[in-house]
Amino acid sequence: MQVDALADRLRFHVYALSDDSMAGRQTGSAEEHKAAQHIIGAFSELKLRPAGERPKTGGSAAEGKGSAAEGKGSAANGMGSTAEGMGSAASGMGTTARGMGTAASEGWKQGFTFTARKEFAPLQKLRIKKSVLVWGKDWHTLPESGGGLIKGRLQDVGYGISAPDLGHDDYAGQPNLTGRIALIRVNSPDGNNPHGKFGPHSLPARKIRLAFEKGAKAVVFYPGSDEDVIPTAKPDRRTQSAELPAVCLSRSAYLELKPATGVPVQLQTGVDALQVTGHNVVAFLDHGAAYTVVVGAHYDHLGDGTWGGTLQRDGSGPAIHNGADDNASGTAGLIELARYFSNANNPAAKAFNYLFMAFSGEELGLLGSAYFAKNPTYPLNQVAAMINLDMIGRLDSQSRSIGVYGVGTSPIWRVRVDSLAGNLKPKTHESGSGSSDHTSFYLQDIPVLHLFTGTHTDYHKPSDDADRINFTGMAEVVNYVVRLIESIPPNEKPVFVRTTDSDRSSAPSFKVTLGIMPDYFYEGRGVRIDGVTPNRPAARSGILKGDLLIELGSYETADMDAYMKALSAFSKGQTTTARVMRGDQILELPVTF
Ligand SMILES: [Zn+2]
Repeated sequence: MQVDALADRLRFHVYALSDDSMAGRQTGSAEEHKAAQHIIGAFSELKLRPAGERPKTGGSAAEGKGSAAEGKGSAANGMGSTAEGMGSAASGMGTTARGMGTAASEGWKQGFTFTARKEFAPLQKLRIKKSVLVWGKDWHTLPESGGGLIKGRLQDVGYGISAPDLGHDDYAGQPNLTGRIALIRVNSPDGNNPHGKFGPHSLPARKIRLAFEKGAKAVVFYPGSDEDVIPTAKPDRRTQSAELPAVCLSRSAYLELKPATGVPVQLQTGVDALQVTGHNVVAFLDHGAAYTVVVGAHYDHLGDGTWGGTLQRDGSGPAIHNGADDNASGTAGLIELARYFSNANNPAAKAFNYLFMAFSGEELGLLGSAYFAKNPTYPLNQVAAMINLDMIGRLDSQSRSIGVYGVGTSPIWRVRVDSLAGNLKPKTHESGSGSSDHTSFYLQDIPVLHLFTGTHTDYHKPSDDADRINFTGMAEVVNYVVRLIESIPPNEKPVFVRTTDSDRSSAPSFKVTLGIMPDYFYEGRGVRIDGVTPNRPAARSGILKGDLLIELGSYETADMDAYMKALSAFSKGQTTTARVMRGDQILELPVTF
């Protein structure tokens, strides 16, 4: 495409998507919807058909087409008035946007529902004897607390640890706890030492589970000394709820009340889970070809940074994160690639069908693309390759360096990536597994490429704005993608190669990694494994994709947090046992880090 004209169109999309009125395109928000409408508006001008839902069969397919066509009409109307229309729509946004949404977004969107956050329930009450305690000051709720209104009497069970092999069992000789509220000291006889011999036993989740098994109906923790550490963390969306309500007294409240066996307690507590539905936008371009190329870009970003992901650390509080580079840039590229392939008449362009996908939920852990990979609206076995555009807006005009990831996922890539680069300088990486949406397709054994102009000081900050984008550079990257796609051999499926991957969970603070890709979508108990990296501890131990990791050594891996904690307890060379559920079988596999 002619670079200047393309750069102008890309500029239009990037400015629209990263405008303050999009409020940072938080997954599941009204502004996510608004950004989706921008994409759908552009798609509906092209020869694309909505592909957000599984195709219907027989007569209903025809009906579906009919309503899609109507949808097209009204979308086109909306499009004409783009600039002004959008401005004036802003006043009556609530009704306007929703009204438009139901008509125009018909069939284009694929919704996915997930737990967006967990928060302490608004009602938190604790009465011990006759004293009503102040929440947040005299006591805290544990992030993993279960919920409910509980009345009962305390029963002191020491540290609440049962570890006969270590010569310590707080439950030995205890009467039955049925109907009682367990009173448990935090930490362990070793003090607050997660790497000590009581390590896993001292974790609150473990103690709560044990109290539950002994019949207790809630747990009140307390700090038995000034050195004891009181758990005051907040729940996040991946926190696994424990079996019982669990709270912890402050040191001063403990000293004042001296709670003991037999003391009456009334407790109301809990953690609320907020469900949110995000939306991918999916469009299909049918060329009647044997195979399909997926082009994807995530269009969600961090909203005002309140719900995580922000790197703004100056204490200035919530601010709109416009995400011009991350990833209005890739979304703009996606739209223009859809326009190009929709209008192209050359045989190389028509050698494939195309699935153009704008993902949401990427910033929360590839949620949208992972959902699509598990619930495809188009058969994945007909997909030849997937090209991901994530952050293509900051091409350095001096170095002209462009990151190309996934080059090892098929033997077709290497020569093409280098020879078709024009005056761009590809910096290639073999791995198909990284922190963006191509990973979800790589895990389905599809050759992938991810194009990325590199990170910068505005990354994940409110200053990632449109005026810092290199639009000419973006146009060059988009043209490079066209050359790459048109060079894929037609009428065959490129060979897929599993790469030696860098582990997503290998944060530098860990001494060891397992070499798994966790399923960030999984909300049950345990860590579901979405992919296993060859030649890493998990793969060597026989852990398979699809397994549910429930324990590592004596650590329960109830959720990602617990899994990370467990990992941090091991060192290189150490051997432990991974307990995994495979189907309804529990397997014990030796793992050497
Ligand atoms: Zn991104």
